This record gives sequence, structure tokens and C-alpha cells, in this order.
Amino acid sequence: MTTSLLEKHRGLSERYGRMMEAGENAVGLTNDRIVSPTRALINGRETILAGTNNYMGITFDPDCIAAGKKALEEFGTGTTGSRIANGTYAMHGELERVLAGMLDRKHCIAFTTGYQANLGMLAGLAGPKDTVFLDADSHSSIYDGCALSGAKLVRFRHNDAADLDKRLARMEDDGGGRLVVVEGIYSMVGDRAPLDEFVEVKKKHEFELLVDEAHSFGVLGPNGRGLADEAGLEDDVDYVVGTFSKSVGAIGGFGAGNQDMFEMIRYASRPYMFTASASPASVATSIASIKKLQAEPERRTQLAKNSKRLFEGFRDLGLETGCDVVSPVIAVRCPDEPSTITMWNMLLAAGVYVNIALPPGTPGNICLLRCSVSAAHTDADIDRIIALFGEVVAAG
Ligand code: PMP
Repeated sequence: MTTSLLEKHRGLSERYGRMMEAGENAVGLTNDRIVSPTRALINGRETILAGTNNYMGITFDPDCIAAGKKALEEFGTGTTGSRIANGTYAMHGELERVLAGMLDRKHCIAFTTGYQANLGMLAGLAGPKDTVFLDADSHSSIYDGCALSGAKLVRFRHNDAADLDKRLARMEDDGGGRLVVVEGIYSMVGDRAPLDEFVEVKKKHEFELLVDEAHSFGVLGPNGRGLADEAGLEDDVDYVVGTFSKSVGAIGGFGAGNQDMFEMIRYASRPYMFTASASPASVATSIASIKKLQAEPERRTQLAKNSKRLFEGFRDLGLETGCDVVSPVIAVRCPDEPSTITMWNMLLAAGVYVNIALPPGTPGNICLLRCSVSAAHTDADIDRIIALFGEVVAAG
């Protein structure tokens, strides 16, 4: 007798039920209206948004909105096809040129989402004869990209270059290529990859290095290009991946590199070939936004200032943050799932929205209340978030 396919989700369903009994839907909360980059109406109440990855607060920028509206009027609501069929518009090329210019890379490929950028880049680069070395805390899109590529997967300990070194040394030469993937800022606890250490390993062993700058593009470095820019190590990074859904405030993703055959990734990559391209409004918004990120470095300075204020405020309360370095991702460790859900609901009821992050999606299966800081937060916003964490989390 066959079993119902959904039966495998019985445990998940019970866990979801317990969360719903405790209050709001922490994994699908409805924003009834978005008032500004830092405010939404949720359950009729104006709420401070402190978990939206809207790092630059650019989502309501008048120039970006105007660019999106113009594209919507001139090019319509959607592209109705993939880039290799009917879905390449002049603006897709412009987006890639603008981005290649900002990244100082010869080539850039735009994908429809950041998730697809990782799928497309990993599966476009690696194949069944190759080996992909992944940091154990890699984002799901990186793991999924590796699975799609069919490459052999080797995991190394999070941010541990010595562990990567050991695994590379142990591996026999099988004639295949080797790709190492790390992230600029890790999305759950906000720590950075120790890029200098990985670059040292690269001098000893042959491999190509890809950095996912999803949370660091627009945020880190003198040119806003990400961790490699901050660390002065861009020449040692072979491929850059990023997304438009965070600092850029739109939707889409990209891969970039300097290799002569880089463009072939387009034609070897199913997540590029078999999905519709980004909509005109989204592409035009991304172009306008990326130009702003380049022209207005003060946004990065403000974000760094705001991040430091929140980080130090949490530390002064005695809260255990996910890591010891300041970044716009600041997560607070909580004891267990029920108390994390209760505290998340209390914060929401008091007027602040943060992310809840629970196992298995978290490193080491810890429970987190995760904040992401925006350049658009005011000092008063940050102080209010700190005060509410003091009342709800530190006191709890
Ligand atoms: N890479 C990392 C490290 C991420 O955190 C995310 C999204 N959270 C992505 C890729 C995927 O980006 P998107 O949500 O824009 O598809």
C-alpha cells in the first residue's frame, strides 16, 4: 500500500501548529502596507522593520521608483520568456554593463533571483567530474546549486581555512576542477569569511574561488563591492555572486568574472536558460539603484554607524550576539524554540519586526532573533529596538 506523499510532513505540520498557537505566523507574516523602508502596517499597527535586509533603505527612492514606472509603461509588465528565447531586452544588457562597471569585472550575467544566480553559477561552472568545497554554513542556494551541478560535494568547517587546507591536501588529483565557495557576510549571524586565510590556502592548492556577496554587495568595501573589496583581495577571487534583493532593494541576482569563456555560463546553465528573465520594472529599478549605491557612499557609512549602534546596544544589555564583529546582520541567541517564538511575538506586539531563525536553517541548530540594520533607520529607531530587546529578551 502506498502512503500519502504529504504524510512525511506530519512532524512539520505539528511544529507549525505549535507556532500558530503561540501567536502570529512567524514564517509568513503579512505586511498590510509598506509605509517606508523602515515601517510597515502589520495588524493595523505601524511597526519598525528590523528584519528586511533593506540595508540601504533604497526601496522608496524616488529616482528608482520613477525608473521602474517608466520601464513598466514603455516595456510592459513582464518579459514572458527566458533570456535565450524572447526575454533579453536592451535593459538586461545595460544592467549587466552597469554592474560589471561597479564590480570592475569584465563579464557579468544577470539572473532572475539571487537564488537562481547561485544555482546558475554553480551548475554552470561545476559538473559531475568536479569537486565543490562548501563552507558548512553555506546558504541553501549554494547547496542546491552544488546538487544541480552533479559535482562531488566536500564540506569544510565554517570559516575554517585550515580545515579546507586539510581536505584539499587529502584529496587525490582526479583530473577534475575544484571550486571553493564562501560568503562575504553570512546571512544568519553576520560573520564574514576570513578571506585572507582562504587566499593563503589558494596559494598552496589549485582551485577556483567563488564568493557569494549577497549580504555584502553595496555594504562593504571602499567601492561597495563587498568583502573582497574590503579585504583588498579581489584579484584572488575568480567569481562573484550577488543579489538585488538586499542592498539594491529590487529582485534579481548576478554572477561576474574576468575569464574569456565566462559568457558560456549562460548557455550551460539551466537556471539561466529555462526561466523567464526579470521584469522590466525590476531591471530598471536595479540599474537606478546600483548607480545610486555607487554615487552615494555615504549610505554605507550611515549603515556602518547604525549597525555599530545596535550591536553595542545589544552588548550593553548583556545579550549574546551571533558573532563578535559588527555587520548589518545582528542576531541574538535565544535558549530554545518555544521561548524564541514567544519573544518574537512580544517584540511584534510592542511594534518591532525581526526575523525568527530556527533549526535546521541555522548554524549549529541555534535559535535566533535576527535583526538586519538599514541606513534608513534613525538613531531613535535603533534605540527603540534596543529598548524593546531589553524589555523582552534581556529580561526574559
Ligand atoms: N545567497 C545568500 C547568502 C542569501 O542569504 C540569499 C537570500 N537570503 C541568497 C543567496 C538568495 O538571494 P534571493 O533571496 O535574492 O534569491
